[in-house]
Amino acid sequence: MAVKKFKKIMAANRGEIAIRIFRACTELGIKTVAIYSEEDNISLHRYKADEAYPVGRGKGPIDAYLAIDEIIDLARKKEVDAIHPGYGFLSENAEFADACARAGITFIGPTPEIQRRLGDKVSARAVAIEAGVPVVPGTEKPIENEEEALIFAKEAGYPIIVKASAGGGGRGMRVARTQRELLEGLKSAASEAQASFGNAAVFLEKYLERPKHIEVQIMGDTHGNIVHFFERDCSIQRRHQKVIEMAPSLSLKAEQRQNVCDMAMKIAQAVGYVNAGTVEFLLDQQGNFYFIETNPRIQVEHTVTEMVTQRNLVQIQIRVAEGHRLSDPEIGISGQEDIELRGFAIQSRVTTEDPQNSFAPDFGTIKVYRTAAGYGVRLDAGQGYAGAQVTPHYDSLLTKITAFGRSFRDASRTMHRALQEFRIRGVKTNIGFLENVITHPTFLAGTCDTSFIDSHPELFQ
Ligand code: ADP
Repeated sequence: MAVKKFKKIMAANRGEIAIRIFRACTELGIKTVAIYSEEDNISLHRYKADEAYPVGRGKGPIDAYLAIDEIIDLARKKEVDAIHPGYGFLSENAEFADACARAGITFIGPTPEIQRRLGDKVSARAVAIEAGVPVVPGTEKPIENEEEALIFAKEAGYPIIVKASAGGGGRGMRVARTQRELLEGLKSAASEAQASFGNAAVFLEKYLERPKHIEVQIMGDTHGNIVHFFERDCSIQRRHQKVIEMAPSLSLKAEQRQNVCDMAMKIAQAVGYVNAGTVEFLLDQQGNFYFIETNPRIQVEHTVTEMVTQRNLVQIQIRVAEGHRLSDPEIGISGQEDIELRGFAIQSRVTTEDPQNSFAPDFGTIKVYRTAAGYGVRLDAGQGYAGAQVTPHYDSLLTKITAFGRSFRDASRTMHRALQEFRIRGVKTNIGFLENVITHPTFLAGTCDTSFIDSHPELFQ
């Protein structure tokens, strides 16, 4: 395939990730196009692009960004060469990737076939099993009736987790410790999955107690070359949603790191992976890894990997979508040995949520917005300025702080200092809570597992 240089890229997204994409493009000399919903009329991302156009008038805040035909029409009219979907919205929608291809526009991400095989948790588990990678014991197919669920429960024993095949962002998941909870969980997970993903299919897995969440960043070009960028540790979660992520993991010995990266590569190779993706695993208390899912897109926490590998992942996504080989000078990765780990990075997700009120999202006008800066601080913000409106229409992520340094100790000190330096008034934020987490002895000892936040309610004060 010949290389096709992009002149103009559209981000089919909003907020911080749209801005992240525009920055990557601008550095490469590529023009940028933003789209925005009615509700995002004065959102920052539209001002950060060279051109910006409204989409989805009258469709509502979310559906505006899902208006495939309108987005593609606009992209064609404005002579866009490629569309970057970011995360969420259309990023895992194989129909959108197909529609881009039909319109002669490059979709910056994996092929629709890969999305279909890996985007659904049940079919991704099948790929892992086929590739010889261990998965958490679970059902091979979605559950059709209560009886099937009870048979699995008898075999595997409680606790069990009910998961939506199409799930993401911690939605459509229920932990069941008794038969009653299982039967209730099946119903409520299915209806949540139907409402959130338009797909009610759920399956069951054995629920591992207090595991760590370890994920591997992968990237493939369109010529069959695939590399990994080592792991991230995303064990610091609240209700199964990531709050603080880091790279590398403090919990892995060298051979475990090698082992988990090899497993991720096996899965990537099994499907001929193209573009950026993440292969997620749980690490149990006995040191065993189990594959859980794949995310065939860029992730929120990609920044920590960028800081410790000194590789601009969004720019590499663009280059491989242009048809470049990883080994081309534009990317400069001749083989796995070219990717090195240096130092330590931690990311905090600053949200407009009130920790003292069960993390309920808060809304309103930001009155004061003073950020941190200085050595070792990277900020990726969507709506950060005094006067900005925080609305109930979208997720509550306000800014991502990535702190980096030579060691975990340096990076965590920098993160603490950065959190202290922030001043946000007008909306409630989780900054105080994040400070409590990153100064906690368990955090500083590097021993947090996925139960850490939920089992320490004092962190919310
Ligand atoms: P989502 O796609 O919604 O993010 P994941 O499958 O990636 O869902 O799981 C998110 C988190 O839920 C994991 O990081 C982990 O904390 C928890 N989890 C998922 N599956 C299991 C399991 N089988 N046992 C224990 N915890 C699990």
